[in-house]
Amino acid sequence: MAEVDRVRTGGCLCEGVRYKTVGELRDVTNCFCIQCQKTSGHHFAATEADLSQFELVNHATLRWYESSDAAKRGFCNHCGSSLFWQRNGAQTISITAGTLDKPTYLATTRNIFVEDKSDYHDLPVLK
Ligand SMILES: [Zn+2]
Ligand SMILES: [Zn+2]
Repeated sequence: MAEVDRVRTGGCLCEGVRYKTVGELRDVTNCFCIQCQKTSGHHFAATEADLSQFELVNHATLRWYESSDAAKRGFCNHCGSSLFWQRNGAQTISITAGTLDKPTYLATTRNIFVEDKSDYHDLPVLK
């Protein structure tokens, strides 16, 4: 299948939030910043979609938390899944890779804010 036509689906643990993307997604970036550690419980592994590629199918339990002046984070207020990160006014949305249904057809290619990572784990080895 051509990547431009590829449909991916995903959602939270309780399925109160379900989403769909169409087309090529960015490969997965691990973010180790403090905010991402706190919101995910570890590090934030996310792909990114243009808003034109992204559709919320279910959003009954989706809530947004303004985590800074610059961005907000989307989570499920029923099961607690951490789903999205979005810079204010951006035309893209970051989507946590673990909420995508398999196969994702993605690879993890980047670590960012590694200087903020906690001391209990080693960096994931990237291809
Ligand atoms: Zn949920
Ligand atoms: Zn981060």
